[in-house]
Amino acid sequence: MQIFNEIGELRAFLAQKKSSNYSIGFVPTMGALHQGHLALIQASKKENDITVCSIFVNPTQFNNPSDLEKYPRTLEKDIALLESEHCDVLFCPTPAEMYPNQASIRLSFGDLETVMEGKFRPGHFSGVALVVSKLLHIVEPTRAYFGQKDFQQLKIVEQLVKDLNFNAEIKSISIYREPDGLAMSSRNMRLNAAQREVAIIFYKTLLFAKEQLLEGVDFAVIQKQAHAMVEQQPGVKLEYLELADASNLKLMQHVTENTVLLIAGYVGEVRLIDNLLMNEN
Ligand code: AMP
Repeated sequence: MQIFNEIGELRAFLAQKKSSNYSIGFVPTMGALHQGHLALIQASKKENDITVCSIFVNPTQFNNPSDLEKYPRTLEKDIALLESEHCDVLFCPTPAEMYPNQASIRLSFGDLETVMEGKFRPGHFSGVALVVSKLLHIVEPTRAYFGQKDFQQLKIVEQLVKDLNFNAEIKSISIYREPDGLAMSSRNMRLNAAQREVAIIFYKTLLFAKEQLLEGVDFAVIQKQAHAMVEQQPGVKLEYLELADASNLKLMQHVTENTVLLIAGYVGEVRLIDNLLMNEN
């Protein structure tokens, strides 16, 4: 695997590959890689000649400085995992390489970001859209791969690519879960053994909410029950449980043919998110 820290060197390498008409698959990550990330790498390997993974803990998307400071960083292990998947290129720039000057641009997404993650993490999606734009300009991939784990982020990226005419196809990959159902996340590494055990409550709550909705229970009632269920657990807090139209994230009270349940909350200091499509088995 070729590793680049500098934008210019990566661009020169990729320009050569593109001149031979190679297709480029791109998987942007913040590192601390797990099987969910590797599923994106595998999808890219299948569909492209060259797979580029980036590892960059993007400061502009963290609204909480302590979350940024404590974000797991495991570069040596990440490199070994990427090599075992035969990833072709790793781009891991420093913050100074990505942001030589403080960026002044702000990107906003209207109704897509006034709810859920956008509401609870002000500025988060502007930072995500900024770094994704920079990375798409640097790599100019044929296809870029994103996980449904970050469902709202996926919708924002799809909108960004449409609005700014990026010439990349956005591909989405379903959520990769631990055997007990916990959605894989780099932040899971920050949970101690007891917290890891209770963290499953978010997925359990999604399953419970889905079952109740299918039985015709009012969603407002389900939201109240969810709060009670989650907060029975020691050190756990529910931030939101919402039902939304999976195409535009408009909040819903009833299930339609394409709705998704989304949940976020804290286990101790660690913030976790998950979601469940209503029409998926
Ligand atoms: P992150 O490193 O958390 O920024 O994630 C990088 C990419 O991996 C994003 O597109 C995520 O949605 C995706 N991802 C993270 N966790 C999972 C998972 N459990 N299953 C599928 N994709 C994931």
